[in-house]
Amino acid sequence: MSRHRDPRSYDLDRLRAEMLDHDGGEVNDSIPQLASADPTFCAIAMALPDGTVRSTAQADVAFSVQSAVKPFLFALALLDTDGQALERIGIEPTGEAFDAIKLESDTGRPPNPMVNAGALLTASIVDGDDVAARDARILTGLSAFAGRPLEVDEEVARDEHLLGDRNHALAHLMRAEGTLRVSADDAVAVYARACAVLVDAEVLAVMGATLAFGGRNPLTGEQVVPPEVARDVVSVMATCGVYDGSGRWMRSVGVPAKSSVSGAIVMSAPQRLGAAVISPPLDEYGTSVRGHAASKRLSDELGLHVFGSAPGVD
Ligand code: GLN
Repeated sequence: MSRHRDPRSYDLDRLRAEMLDHDGGEVNDSIPQLASADPTFCAIAMALPDGTVRSTAQADVAFSVQSAVKPFLFALALLDTDGQALERIGIEPTGEAFDAIKLESDTGRPPNPMVNAGALLTASIVDGDDVAARDARILTGLSAFAGRPLEVDEEVARDEHLLGDRNHALAHLMRAEGTLRVSADDAVAVYARACAVLVDAEVLAVMGATLAFGGRNPLTGEQVVPPEVARDVVSVMATCGVYDGSGRWMRSVGVPAKSSVSGAIVMSAPQRLGAAVISPPLDEYGTSVRGHAASKRLSDELGLHVFGSAPGVD
């Protein structure tokens, strides 16, 4: 008999209550909307193969998705370019921060789609001839992953565009290398709007589940991307999704995931479930402190570690 618990009856409220005692970390202050986030906020959700979504209090409170959008941008870029995205973006982990001003030295390509350079490029190669068309394409695609229509927080999008100096720098560097083919400002505009899409923990769990179930949304039944695209994306989440903390994450939690500065974490446990935690205080790798702790507990107690769970390993 399995010593693991059943996700259908798992007590998420108890997990959330325990996480609320978990202090530490700093709220990101890159834009005013993130800086004013409530540090005590904590929401947890999971989406199961039959489309059931289970969640805690606050799991319907909207946050900007920030970098948790990157796996889905990569999926849309792979789909729209028929896999050519893999020639224009690397897939190796960087061991550096998400916004490091660094490209592959021999090719000038961004190192992977989970860091900002890569996400700026993926957002620039989805279908669409201009900013408005690519923005609309991304919103439609993300909504299909979510199983409901999503919207952009216009204030967040504006501030990300205005205040994202490192993203402008990365876009200009990629222009200089010839790897970015739209204007630097257009690339930042589309990426900023993608980061400003509003999600809650329930929505993000369904999005993660869609990747976990080979690109098929368990809520709507829609095949959003082909299984091979989902597999490529989940592979890169496993190796690069938590930036320079990816190795540590993979060992302790063992579930492909993507972190973000809003404190959101999306997890795709292959063929098992999608899950999301949102809690704003971040550790030194830009990962939600409570999000990491809650993800570890879910992985241990539900047996989600892709290489076999190891309860008690911190
Ligand atoms: N929008 C943020 C940025 O580009 C996203 C970064 C993140 O969530 N790690 O700086």
